[in-house]
Amino acid sequence: MKTALVCGAGGFIGHHLVGRLKAEGYWVRGIDLKNPQFEATVADDFVIGDLSHVSIVQSAICPPSNSGSFDEIYQLAADMGGAGYIFTGENDATVMHNSASINLNVLDRVLARNTALKHNKTKIFYSSSACVYPQHNQLDPNDPVCREDSVYPAAPDSEYGWEKLFSERLYLSYQRNFQIPVFIARFHNIFGPLGTWCGGREKSPAAICRKVALAEPGGEIEIWGDGEQTRSFLYIDECIEGVRNLVAGGFSGPVNIGSEEMTTINNMVDIVCNIAGKQLSTVHIEGPLGVRGRNSDNTMIREKLGWSPDYPLRQGLEHTYKWVAEQVEKSMPEAVNG
Ligand code: NAD
Repeated sequence: MKTALVCGAGGFIGHHLVGRLKAEGYWVRGIDLKNPQFEATVADDFVIGDLSHVSIVQSAICPPSNSGSFDEIYQLAADMGGAGYIFTGENDATVMHNSASINLNVLDRVLARNTALKHNKTKIFYSSSACVYPQHNQLDPNDPVCREDSVYPAAPDSEYGWEKLFSERLYLSYQRNFQIPVFIARFHNIFGPLGTWCGGREKSPAAICRKVALAEPGGEIEIWGDGEQTRSFLYIDECIEGVRNLVAGGFSGPVNIGSEEMTTINNMVDIVCNIAGKQLSTVHIEGPLGVRGRNSDNTMIREKLGWSPDYPLRQGLEHTYKWVAEQVEKSMPEAVNG
């Protein structure tokens, strides 16, 4: 039986990935600071632990029998959040220190185990982000450039992006110098059920679904900025499919895993209102915005993996709205039912 360690298995993508690996017949250990928020994990073993501590990583990477090594490690743990967490600047030191420590520890401990066992069996997947791309290529909302090779000269617009870029290079260095097989994806705005939907770390699809679910028909919702900033959003199932395809193939990346269906935030609001069957007006307020435009460029993934995402945004939003509306109803029935 194949074995996998999922770091960040209490988080949105990690939790979905655990489910997919279990469905494929893997023995899975998850590790995170916390349990998954919205449903129980199906991992065979789930460790609550802080991966910024080297001793925690040291024991997490030893498979259950304590012999051999994991076949695959998925490193998704990071200090993460929506624009309200990443772009204010208030969390920069924590984000950089926590995430860089995790990545340094994982590679250091895998290398030590490989050296002791005299093999390089473990494949490591690392989740980077579209936030590595330079701000100056994303000023035109109608034509943002996010081709993989456009990342240099580097100029990410957040410390979160700089840490991701550093860690991409870290993983590639360990591959170059110590032959550790690594696979790196740059995720572009992943969304879907079981994602954070309130509290300040939620992404825009979940935030919009929540605001629409809470609004009275004919009411109004607040949107950060003029709403004409563009993004693409990838439904969670396709993200997991992309990760599995990447690790199964021979290409290390970094490669974009994202949707090419670009939308303005205003258009996404219209889609969600339409799904909900509510007519609402929008009030534009000041808030952290990130870059003006961003879209995935899937030329490389098509070429290298013979696959690219094609799940329509509207379909993903239908699933997400249904789930978020249920959460809203469960947590504050009086607000929803009037
Ligand atoms: P998430 O916040 O839901 O999951 C990350 C998990 O890492 C959390 O559960 C958190 O508790 C855990 N974690 C943080 N510090 C830890 C530590 N010191 N020790 C143990 N666990 C720790 O985020 P997600 O959306 O599931 O994202 C997963 C990965 O994908 C992250 O690396 C993120 O940067 C990357 N990514 C996500 C998106 C997206 O749209 N969701 C986009 C680009 C990149």
